[in-house]
Amino acid sequence: SAIPLHHAARRGLLIVMTGASGVGKGTLREQWLTGQDVFYSTSWTTREARPGERDGVDYVFVTPAAFEAKVMADGFLEHASFVGNSYGTPIEPIEAALSRGQDVVLEIEVEGAMQVKARMGDEAILVFIMPPSLTELRRRLEGRATETPERIEKRLARAREEIREAHEFRFVVVNDDLDRAVEGLRAIQTAERARQIPE
Ligand code: 5GP
Repeated sequence: SAIPLHHAARRGLLIVMTGASGVGKGTLREQWLTGQDVFYSTSWTTREARPGERDGVDYVFVTPAAFEAKVMADGFLEHASFVGNSYGTPIEPIEAALSRGQDVVLEIEVEGAMQVKARMGDEAILVFIMPPSLTELRRRLEGRATETPERIEKRLARAREEIREAHEFRFVVVNDDLDRAVEGLRAIQTAERARQIPE
């Protein structure tokens, strides 16, 4: 009788997309994951919802006290503060998805991605999304129209720091052309699935 070559249940891949605010992580992720059975982790945040954002879909919007309580209960895989607000990745749904063999994608800023790297080691597939230039990044942030000029400057200052950390991550994808960048992400996912991870 045929012996299956891949009988052991494989854990899902843990893919972490990181990079500056405004670089297009969200758009890339939507394009990349449409039609795929991937678990996208919905973060918690203390920031106010933007018009059109849905609680429980785009983020779980919480008070600073509720966020702090979850930090204290060790409920986050990582958490960071970003331009005056807290953001965090709930750990439990991620562990559940990975154990049932589902790939997981996080979309988080750089400090949080560094925490995932420290905590998950080689299991974390870290992908840094690079803007074509800072000028282009500014153009995209200004085009959002949801941010005040002051907050745009803060996000750009943070972006410069984040880009300096790009070398910390396994892959870099430049988001100059959407289709090409999505192709890069698909290639990473395919390659990582084919890797022989030592037991
Ligand atoms: P925004 O306020 O524009 O939605 O997000 C600001 C930044 O926080 C973005 O770079 C976004 O990717 C990041 N972010 C969203 N969720 C999380 C999270 O759970 N953890 C961390 N560390 N960053 C997050």
